[in-house]
Amino acid sequence: MSDFSVTDAQACILEHMQRSGVETVALHDSLDRVLAEDVLSNRNHPPYDVSAMDGYALLFSDVALANSKAPIRLHIVDDIRAGQMPQVTIQLGQAARIMTGAPTPAGIDTVIRVEDTELLGDVVSILTPPKQGANIRPLGENLKTGHVVLKQGSMITPGVLAILAMVKKKDVKVFSKPSVAILSTGDELEDIDDAIDENKIPNANSHALYAQCKSLGIEATLLGIAKDNEEDLRAKLAVGLKYDVLLASGGVSVGHHDFVRPTLEALGITMHFWRVAMRPGHPLAFGTSESESAVFGLPGNPVASMVCFEQFVAPALRQSMGQNKLYRRTIQARLEHDMKGSLGKTVFIRVTLSRDEQGYVATSAGAQGSGVLMSMALAEGLLLLPAEHEGLKAGEFASVQLLQGMDFQNETGVEV
Ligand code: AMP
Ligand code: MG
Repeated sequence: MSDFSVTDAQACILEHMQRSGVETVALHDSLDRVLAEDVLSNRNHPPYDVSAMDGYALLFSDVALANSKAPIRLHIVDDIRAGQMPQVTIQLGQAARIMTGAPTPAGIDTVIRVEDTELLGDVVSILTPPKQGANIRPLGENLKTGHVVLKQGSMITPGVLAILAMVKKKDVKVFSKPSVAILSTGDELEDIDDAIDENKIPNANSHALYAQCKSLGIEATLLGIAKDNEEDLRAKLAVGLKYDVLLASGGVSVGHHDFVRPTLEALGITMHFWRVAMRPGHPLAFGTSESESAVFGLPGNPVASMVCFEQFVAPALRQSMGQNKLYRRTIQARLEHDMKGSLGKTVFIRVTLSRDEQGYVATSAGAQGSGVLMSMALAEGLLLLPAEHEGLKAGEFASVQLLQGMDFQNETGVEV
C-alpha cells in the first residue's frame, strides 16, 4: 500500500468514524456540547411591541413638524413601566411616559427618546421629530412561537445557551462524547509515578494526548505503558478496544520490535492505512473493529504524536461529538525566513506568529526534530509546507493552522 496523503487519510478516518449517541444534560452542562435536536420557541419574545428606549410613546402625526424653535407640547396621560400593561389609549395631543422594555400603549406608532424632549409638569415638549415607528421593538423580534430557533448541530456557546434559557429548556439533548483510552508502548519508557531511571525515557505522549483530549472536552482513560512484546501489547490493546476510540503511541513503524500493527490485526482490527506522507508523523495507523471501535496507532516521537492528533484524531473526535467545524482555523502568514520542506510530503513546521502592517509573520519556534517537544510547547501555529514544494523562501506566504493561545491577544482591540 502506498502512503496516504494527509487529506486522503483524514477522509478515510471520517468515513469510518461512528457518530456518538445522544444524551440529555442539564442546561448548564450543555455548554460546549452540540445540540442533538431542533429547538422551537415556546413563546413570542418580546411578547408584545415594547419600547427600545426610555422616552415618550406618541403619534408621529402629532410631532412631525416639531423643532427646537417651535416645540410641540403633549399631555402625559400615562406612565408605563416594564412588566406593566398600559391601561390608556393615547389620543392626538397626548403621550405616555414609557420605560425601556415596557409594552407600548394602544394608539401610538412612535417612541421618542427622553434626550430629545423637555419636561414641564405633566407636559412634554418635543424638540426634534423622531422617525415614524422609531424605538419600537416589535412583538416576536427575538423569538416567534413555534419557529425553530436553534438547529440540531449547533454548538452550544454562551449565546446559544441564553436562547435555550429563554425558551425554558432545562434539559437539553446533546450528542454524547466518545470514550477514549490512551496507551503508550515502549520498553524504554517510565511513567510519571515511576522512580527516575536515567536509562529510561519519560512518558510524554500519554499525558500530551490526555491534555489534547481534555481540550476537546473529553476525559480520556490512561492505560499506562505496554512493553514491546506481543503478550503485553495484546493484553493492553484488548482493554483499549473496549473504548470507542483507542490511541496507542509508539511501535507503529517497521522496526524489529514494532508490534502494534500486527497485534491489532491479530485482535481482529481492520487496518485502513499505516503510513501518511507527512512530516513529522510518517508512521500512523488507523483501524476499526467490528464492534465499531476506532484505533489510532500514533508515532512514538512526541511531536509527531501531537501533530497527528491535531490532524487526524481531533477532527474524528469532533465529528463523533456532532460538531461540523472539524479543523483548526488557518490563516495566511509570511515566512520570516526560508523553511525547508520535503518533496512528496506535507510538512508541518512549528511556528510563532507576529503581526505587521501586511498581516501575520511566521517564525520557526525552534529546532524541528520530531522529538523536540520544546518547539511544540512554544508554537502558536503549524505552518504547512505543501507536498509539491521542496520548501518556501522568506517573504513567501503559507497557511498556518492556529494552535492554542491564538484565540487571545495582549491588546483590548476595543477602540475608545
Ligand atoms: P517508536 O515509534 O516506538 O519507534 O518511538 C519513536 C521514538 O519516540 C523513540 O525515541 C521513543 O523512545 C520515543 N517515544 C515513544 N513513545 C514515547 C512516549 N510515550 N513518550 C516519549 N517518547 C516516546
Ligand atoms: Mg517504540
